[in-house]
Amino acid sequence: MGGAGVTEVVSPVDGVGIGDVAASSVADVDAAVARAAVAFGTWRHVAPGDRGRLLRRFAAQVDAHLEELALLEVRNAGHTIGNARWEAGNVRDVLDYYAGAPERLTGHQIPVPGGLDVTFHEPLGVVGVIVPWNFPMPIAGWGFAPALAAGNTVVLKPAELTPLTALRLAELARDAGLPEGVFTVLPGQGSVVGERFVTHPAVRKVCFTGSTEVGTRIMAGCAAQVKRVTLELGGKSANIVFADADLEKAAATAPSAVFDNAGQDCCARSRILVQRRVYDRFLELLEPAVRAFRVEDPARETAEMGPLISAAHRDRVAGYVDGADVAFTGSRPDGPGFWYAPTVLLAGSPTDRHWRDEIFGPVVSVLPFDDEADAIRLANDTEYGLSGSIWTRDVGRAVRVARAVESGNLSVNSHSSVRYWTPFGGMKRSGLGRELGPDALHAFTDVKNVFIGTEE
Ligand code: NAP
Ligand code: MG
Repeated sequence: MGGAGVTEVVSPVDGVGIGDVAASSVADVDAAVARAAVAFGTWRHVAPGDRGRLLRRFAAQVDAHLEELALLEVRNAGHTIGNARWEAGNVRDVLDYYAGAPERLTGHQIPVPGGLDVTFHEPLGVVGVIVPWNFPMPIAGWGFAPALAAGNTVVLKPAELTPLTALRLAELARDAGLPEGVFTVLPGQGSVVGERFVTHPAVRKVCFTGSTEVGTRIMAGCAAQVKRVTLELGGKSANIVFADADLEKAAATAPSAVFDNAGQDCCARSRILVQRRVYDRFLELLEPAVRAFRVEDPARETAEMGPLISAAHRDRVAGYVDGADVAFTGSRPDGPGFWYAPTVLLAGSPTDRHWRDEIFGPVVSVLPFDDEADAIRLANDTEYGLSGSIWTRDVGRAVRVARAVESGNLSVNSHSSVRYWTPFGGMKRSGLGRELGPDALHAFTDVKNVFIGTEE
């Protein structure tokens, strides 16, 4: 590699450098895409059962190195060890799940006069996956596993801040026997490597997760070549608590629904809407839960939250709290590292900046509402639509509100996390397309219709 220098990787736990990673140049990307395009010619023709077997072997490699991958993420991204183990396990599970797909990628046979009509789900070619720093392992896997299963080859750009687990996954793929050029990890800058995925004509699809701002530009760039694109972007999800809910449970679970991964989660329930007549009681119950939330060295088994990803990001998060009405905060360790205490803000109105913007940190805003219609209106008063939660004991209301909230992923009386076998994605400016679940493969294929005349 080389040509574009190196990036120093820093641990957010203590601010100490943990190594340099070579940054790929445009020439490096072009060479990797050329190899991936050649590899596509054979990978797409690997027998379905053999392609599945290779992906299962890749999953087994991830499983055998699960603790190593998890510890790498604790160090590089500051994730709690419990979360990091789940994340590495998620890569394994997503690989296993899509390893069953090649033999099941069936088309239709459609009755037509004068012949036989069949459809095929053809792989696209080289797929470019662009990954953010907040969930380096899972988000990588949600792109590469279904893409590979469908017969595509993959080039993947991890975030500059968190490239280490992706680089290790590429080694594990090679050890599992994936042929050269089938899965290539290219660390480097978004404006160089990511941008080249968009402009390179041999990259036939871009799968992007990150900010709505960059995602919007990627979609515009892909339009020039009518390049396929999947976008998973920002969120400002509502946690709606009705007066008839199990308030104890709603309050006890609200902190982890937003402070997990230090709030650096596109699904973070960062707006809590509470029905006015239980507003005071809910805050009374929320306060001890927030104060008890364990923010500590993420390598400790008891840690519930680690540091933020960088000093710059911590400053950005703090900028939202300055001058806002702070109800109460949790704790944070002293010393080096990019720590920020969990913070609960009271919103004066839905026009408050902290109520509207994705903060992407451990900051949650609370606002009262009057009735069901008011709750739905306030929940939908955002450009985003990724996730959300509804707390009520009234089944009819739960269904009505779940249907009315414009969001791709909702949970009732729980803060359901992502499951690899159910679809995930956003409405409105939270994204385009769906990942995971039984249909994700179709986003990595194009349908071909073939008519075979049978008349003599
Ligand atoms: P970002 O700029 O959107 O970065 C996401 C990925 O896109 C990174 O790999 C980045 O590379 C790459 N990238 C940047 N500019 C690009 C370009 N012009 N063309 C192609 N790829 C490009 O996000 P961020 O700056 O890390 O975070 C900013 C904010 O975005 C966060 O505070 C948060 O609000 C939101 N965000 C949301 C998610 C999510 O899961 N939906 C994830 C991350 C961030 P580099 O590594 O070089 O930046
Ligand atoms: Mg950026």
